[in-house]
Amino acid sequence: MHITSYAGGLLETNGYLIESEQGAVAIDAPTGMWAWCQEKKVKPTGLLLTHQHFDHVDDAAKMQAAGIPIHAASPFQRELLIEEMVLEWGLPLSVQPFEVDHVFSTKESPLKLSGIEFELRAVPGHSPDSFVFHVALFQKVFAGDTLFAGGGMGRCDLPLGDGKLLLRSIREQLLTLPDETDVFPGHGPPTTIGREIVNNPYLR
Ligand SMILES: [Zn+2]
Repeated sequence: MHITSYAGGLLETNGYLIESEQGAVAIDAPTGMWAWCQEKKVKPTGLLLTHQHFDHVDDAAKMQAAGIPIHAASPFQRELLIEEMVLEWGLPLSVQPFEVDHVFSTKESPLKLSGIEFELRAVPGHSPDSFVFHVALFQKVFAGDTLFAGGGMGRCDLPLGDGKLLLRSIREQLLTLPDETDVFPGHGPPTTIGREIVNNPYLR
């Protein structure tokens, strides 16, 4: 399993490509993600969304148009994008609508794509539709906007956010993973569960 990362858009949002011998899977679709995949000459067999905030789904419609199925915890709904925030900043934004081909739930865990098993863990709090994807075999977790390197945590002051719920999700769904687990967040560099247990002030 080979992981590469891309960061793009207003908020430098991370998108990941996970390649195996049987194909590739994309995690999140920030602005420019599809062009980056094309440059690498990789067409993922699926796009997994950690949640549907605007900065994580900007390229989803383009990837869908290219024939890549979208997997997410909720059907497409404009409210999940929270675009109002950016429009208030006075920045132009218009996310192309897309359709979620497969609305998943924890009951389908693990979800197998390109031969890789993704354990689906619900982590509401930053947004109601947040999920993390744990690849137990390789001790990697794609964490979206839950835990960030260097002691950060996803915002919970956004519409539909809930701070207490986010902390509970992190404690129950992330901190219970082995310390060595690599964490690939939605923004910024990777970290590990063990490092965040020691360093993250929110988790004391
Ligand atoms: Zn977010």
